[in-house]
Parts: sequence; C-alpha cells; structure tokens
Amino acid sequence: MKRKALIVGAGIGGLTTAVRLLSKGYEVQIFEKESSVGGRINYIKTNGYHFDLTASVLMLPNDFKEIFTWAGQDYRDYLQFVKLDPYYRVNYADGSRHDFSTDFPEFISLLESFSKKDSLGYLKFLGDAYGKYLLANKNFLNQSFTDTGDFFNPATLIEALKIKAFSTTYNYISKYIKNEKLKQFVCFQALYIGISPYQSSNVYTLLPTVSQLYGLWYLKGGMYSFVKALQKLISRLGGTIETGTRVEEILIKDNKAIGLKTDKGVAKGAVVVCNADFPYAMQKLVKTKQAKGAYTAKKLKKMKYSCSAFIMYLGLNKKYEDLLVHNLYFNDDFKRNIEAPFRGKLPEKPSLYIYCPSRIDAGMAPPGKESLNVTVRVPNLYFKNIKWDRKTIYSLRKNVIKTLRRIKGLADIEENIVYESCLTPVDLLLNFNSHYGTAFGLSHTLTQTNYFRPQVKAENIDNLYFTGSSIHPGNGISMVLISSKLAVKKIISDQK
Ligand SMILES: Cc1cc2nc3c(=O)[nH]c(=O)nc-3n(C[C@H](O)[C@H](O)[C@H](O)COP(=O)(O)OP(=O)(O)OC[C@H]3O[C@@H](n4cnc5c(N)ncnc54)[C@H](O)[C@@H]3O)c2cc1C
Repeated sequence: MKRKALIVGAGIGGLTTAVRLLSKGYEVQIFEKESSVGGRINYIKTNGYHFDLTASVLMLPNDFKEIFTWAGQDYRDYLQFVKLDPYYRVNYADGSRHDFSTDFPEFISLLESFSKKDSLGYLKFLGDAYGKYLLANKNFLNQSFTDTGDFFNPATLIEALKIKAFSTTYNYISKYIKNEKLKQFVCFQALYIGISPYQSSNVYTLLPTVSQLYGLWYLKGGMYSFVKALQKLISRLGGTIETGTRVEEILIKDNKAIGLKTDKGVAKGAVVVCNADFPYAMQKLVKTKQAKGAYTAKKLKKMKYSCSAFIMYLGLNKKYEDLLVHNLYFNDDFKRNIEAPFRGKLPEKPSLYIYCPSRIDAGMAPPGKESLNVTVRVPNLYFKNIKWDRKTIYSLRKNVIKTLRRIKGLADIEENIVYESCLTPVDLLLNFNSHYGTAFGLSHTLTQTNYFRPQVKAENIDNLYFTGSSIHPGNGISMVLISSKLAVKKIISDQK
C-alpha cells in the first residue's frame, strides 16, 4: 500500500514537495486555506491586465527545471524561459540611467564608463563572490543540518570560515568598488531577501553575482505559469489539492505526527509536511511543548524577521518605451531610506523596483498598454507604529507616484492609470499567514542561517517535516525549491 503524505499549504514549497513525493510513489493530499494555489506566488487578472502578485525576478532557471526532471518530465512541455538582456535598467536620482547586461563587452564598457579602477574592482568582487557562491552551494545550500555533527565538524567549519561572512554587504563591496552608484546597484539586491545591506552579512552578495554571471530569466505568462505547471504535474501524478481548507492543528501522538485537523475534519497520514510559514506554524498549528522544541513563543519573539513590501499594481493606458522588464530607481539619500524599514519607518524618499512584464509578453496587458508592479520595501508588522489604514496607503501611494514621475519617460504615468490596487504587509499576514506580514520569512542573519535556521525535519517529533522560506536554506523561489528537495530526501531516508 502507498504511504500517505499530508501537506499544509500549496505555496512553492508545498507544491514541489508534492511533486517529489508523488514521483517517489507516495499518495499526496495538500490542504490550502486560500481558494487559489501558489501562496505568495499568485496573480491578479482583470480586464486584460495580468499582474504577478509578488515574485518576478527569476534567477537560476536550472532549479526550476530540476523539479520536472525529478518527475521524469521535460520542462519544455510546461514552461517557456526567456533570457533578459539587459537584465536591469537602473535610473538614478540625478537623472542618469544605466543598463546592466550579461553580455561581457557591454558590461565592461558600462563599468569603464564609471572608471577603469571601478571596472577592475567590480570584476575582482565578482570573482571573489563567485568563489563564495561555489563554496556555499557545495557545502551549505544543498544539505540539511539536522544533527549537531552535520555542522560542527572541522571540515564544515573550515569551509564556513572561508566564506568570511562577517563584514556587511556595504563594507565588503567598498573594498572593491569606490563608485557609489555601482555600490547602490549591489546593495539594493540585498533587499530581495529582505535584509539590510548596511547591517547584514555580505554572503548575500551572491544575488547580484548570480544575476550577473548566470543572467535573469522571464517565464512566458509571468511567474504564476510556474505554479500552473506544478498544479498540472500534481494532477497528472495523481495528487489532490484541497483548496479553501484551513489546517487548524498538526496532530501528534506519542511524539509522532499522525495527521491534520482541518476546518472540514481530520485527515490521517504517515508523513506530515508543513509549508505554512514556520514561525506561524510553531505558534498556531503545533500545540504541544515537546513538538515546539526550542521554538517557544519567547524564542519566536526574539528571532529576527525580514522586512515586508508595499506593491502597487498599475494597469496603464499606453506603452512606456523607457521601461524594460526589470527597472530600478535609486532615490536621493539612498542609505537612510534603504535602512528605514529595518528601523520601523516608511522611507521618505523611496527607492523603487518596477516590474513591467508586458514589455516583452503581449499576454500580460491589453494591446498597446502596460501592466506594472511598483515595489517599495516597508517595515514588517513586528513594528506596531505603522497602521496600514487608508491614510497610510494614500500617503505612500502619493509618494510612489511622485517618485515614478521623476523617471525619464514616466512623467505622465498618473494620467494613464486605468486599473490600480495594492498589497500591504497586512495582506501577506491575512492571506498567507506570513508571520508579522514579512515578505521573506525569518531573516538571514548569521545566527539564523545554515545549522541555526529551522531545518526540514522537526527536532523532537517523528514524521513531521517542513519546507519553505523560513526553513534552511532560505527564501526566494530557488531556495524554497532546494528546501523541498532536502525535505523529501530526509523523508525517504527516515522511512527506509
Ligand atoms: C513582495 C515579494 C517579492 C518577492 N520577490 C521574489 C522574487 O522576485 N524572486 C524570488 O525568487 N522570490 C521572491 N519572493 C519570495 C518568494 O515569493 C517566496 O520565497 C516563496 O514564494 C515562498 O514560498 P513558500 O512555499 O515558502 O511559502 P508561501 O508562498 O507563503 O506558501 C505557504 C502556503 O501555506 C498556506 N497556509 C498557511 N497557513 C495555512 C493553514 N493554516 N492551512 C492551510 N494552508 C495554509 C498559505 O495560504 C500559502 O499558500 C518574493 C516575496 C514577496 C512577498
């Protein structure tokens, strides 16, 4: 008889865990509280405009393809990847604009336009950061640390020291690059995992490094096409997804997970995998002291959380030729405003990430029009001083529009908005049970990475596993894909 696995949540972590377990012969049932699957990877579709709800930057397409290989399928039957080049257009507050390309001669001539010294420094930075990425990939990202000995052994500790993680992103890159505009480009990308480049470890300079060396990609139909492909795969493999079903408790007996209590009844299984955000799950779904282990209410309160995001979705009445798919705007007083969300403040002069998929994908907006996401990093709900009411949203919106209008070619943007909505930290909390409404779950501080981050297997409970942003190796779609692989490998080895 097939072993049955029950999964809490149909985010990327839950869906890909399902694909992997189904391919290994498990019977799988997913319980998702929302009416649609995908979790934070979701969408808005209205009057011909199609918006990706959150994620849009696709790095490392091989991680996306691997799940299809795991299931014995050809990814080309499900997905169409498009390489983006230039991969970013960066607009600076002084009106200058630079396109970053993965084409080497283009990239060098851009760097040399700043200075020969910065050009050399940037290349040295890329070389060193690439070395760290290779080390991290081999020794840390692709393995679990479920036992103390997995991490605290001489070989692993030596490799960890080689990564030299202790200086901040800003201090680390300042050793290589002097030009502030180039530094801003590297620093801004730390925000993609919700950490401050002025406070956090330089390890995450692997994001700008990976983008430059491997390129950024776009999925035709937007990021949600990945979710649709996973949904199709799960159905082909015989899995079931119960949407609109809220899990209320992970049932535990004699230190073993035995099933789930949902708002519709009880389901029993040999394995339970929780994809709901880990701190939320420890607080609300895991009820016994033994099962919570180290993750008591006190510890969860003390842990550090990533920032959140405010996103405006704009349906525009005309084409904007000045935009690429990924655009950045770096405002005046960059450092103070980038640090604001980590100090519980809204940025007064926000720097923006602007995503315009309709530049290359006709399916994302009606003919002759554009769909735009504009993202600003904001404090998570741990900071109680900001009330996400109409007044706050109105004033932030006004500030974002004022900032957008400063970008070359976007001066008339407000007059051309025909659809508008937004997402706040409260939406992330209420819709996806993201603890404190964070965008990226537990923060990537050094004391919350590798061995020190929650792992794929529960500490004290058999048959209970975790996958998702707040689990090792971390957040971002590629990392969550790895966490589902680590969870399933552990399940298989434990059940032998
Ligand atoms: C604004 C923003 C921008 C981002 N940009 C990028 C990007 O450009 N590139 C990138 O790679 N990543 C990006 N990310 C990160 C990426 O979206 C996440 O890392 C990833 O989607 C998290 O997937 P997950 O499976 O861990 O969790 P989730 O997507 O949160 O899935 C958890 C699921 O569990 C469900 N659930 C929770 N509680 C229950 C319950 N009690 N019962 C039943 N179901 C429950 C939730 O509804 C949800 O569907 C971004 C995230 C945000 C918020």
